[in-house]
Amino acid sequence: MSALFSWLTKVQALLSPSITPCLTCGKRNLGSSEFPGVCRNCIESIPWIRSPRCLKCGRHVGCPDCTRSSEPSPIICNRSAVAYTSVMREWLGQYKYRGNERYAPLLGLMLDRAYLTLKKEKQSALLSRKSSIIHRSWSADLLVPVPVSDSRLMERGFNQAERLADVLSRCRKIPQLPLLIRTHHTGKQSFKSRAERLADMKHAFAENPAVTTQFADWFNREVPLNRPVRIIIVDDIYTTGSTIRACAEIIQQVGSDYGYAVEVYSLTWARS
Ligand SMILES: [Zn+2]
Ligand SMILES: [Zn+2]
Repeated sequence: MSALFSWLTKVQALLSPSITPCLTCGKRNLGSSEFPGVCRNCIESIPWIRSPRCLKCGRHVGCPDCTRSSEPSPIICNRSAVAYTSVMREWLGQYKYRGNERYAPLLGLMLDRAYLTLKKEKQSALLSRKSSIIHRSWSADLLVPVPVSDSRLMERGFNQAERLADVLSRCRKIPQLPLLIRTHHTGKQSFKSRAERLADMKHAFAENPAVTTQFADWFNREVPLNRPVRIIIVDDIYTTGSTIRACAEIIQQVGSDYGYAVEVYSLTWARS
């Protein structure tokens, strides 16, 4: 009888996959197969950016920043998984500020969607250019997370950009290197004006001397000779783009120090 009971319990568990409450809403709804731990209702309400209005920064609405700027950009483009709505702000807050690490795989898998969008876009561009068959598949060569300052790292215990890049790196088999360091703490960016942020970011990053040899090895071993190297900067949020641009300028510089043409992209979990 007890064997039958335990068998029935197992069958019941299999038939109702959402026994554990949803990570984000806490309700016992039907679970999503693609994003474990989160219910289907929550997944259906994610504000995905499927086709960005601004092809430069990946924004879902009209974009005065990109149209206003005539400066050459150090990145090809940014793509973000979602629009930074109040619900998405709450999810990121749970992870980043309240340290709920169960959000890490969810946010990482969401970022992977943005990678697939970028990959698809680039591949269809290659196809329309009638590139030879070997050049039709597009994938990135290296992921570089945006670094946080030591004090921020101490306070938070992890770098959210690095964790996001970890998931993407595992899903897509793209290596990641902490190529950059943060030279100074820039304070809370959300309270600053656009001009203040831009000035602040100018000298906030530098090449990481600890990985220089690793990077040189990677270049010598992996770099494709028939096209520019594709490097993706990974971060949680794209707001004005000043962080991404500052990081991209250093990567461009490092690339040219090694004598390689580099294409820099960025993938961010949310676009505000
Ligand atoms: Zn839910
Ligand atoms: Zn834009």
